Amino acid sequence: TTLPPPRTRIFKIIVIGDSGVGKTCLTYRFCAGKFPEKTEATIGVDFRERVIDIDGEKIKIQLWDTAGQERFRKSMVQHYYRNVHAVVFVYDVTSAGSFRGLPSWIEECKQHALGTEVPRILVGNKCDLRHFVQVGTDVAQQFADSHSMPLFETSAKSPGSNGGADGASGGGGGNSD
Ligand code: GDP
Ligand code: MG
Repeated sequence: TTLPPPRTRIFKIIVIGDSGVGKTCLTYRFCAGKFPEKTEATIGVDFRERVIDIDGEKIKIQLWDTAGQERFRKSMVQHYYRNVHAVVFVYDVTSAGSFRGLPSWIEECKQHALGTEVPRILVGNKCDLRHFVQVGTDVAQQFADSHSMPLFETSAKSPGSNGGADGASGGGGGNSD
């Protein structure tokens, strides 16, 4: 890897959650501006970057897309928590199981980002599948509140399809530049 030009600050953000919740699609959407035609199960850690402009300063957002598989995680886990600037926890709104999986991800994060005040957000993905929702906004919001995280409900596939719920367009939907 080459050094960034001066003034390009890099923010490392890791994306965590059960397998299949849409972590790869979300990171792809953010960095490539579209939904991937097809994704393969992520192996180990993948990362994608996008440079955004904040107040005239170029900020490189480096999204680390992680795999859920235990056997890869064990060896990789140290690497992706190192020097992390923010953590995105993802569940799938159509999968109660993925929501129940969140506490163990949060626990892992606590253990590896010890004592640091890393900003964390909670993302409910696949809101386009509105007829299949298993995790309602109320329950998710309560959970987010109890962990002092903001909640964003969104869709990597169709970011505008959440009916305009508060906050969602600031997350995965904010890719319209
Ligand atoms: P990961 O294992 O968390 O990386 O999940 P992927 O990004 O590989 O997505 C898993 C599956 O969910 C794939 O078949 C995706 O096409 C699908 N998927 C991901 N995001 C969305 C979404 O927002 N809406 C819908 N309908 N499907 C999605
Ligand atoms: Mg993946």
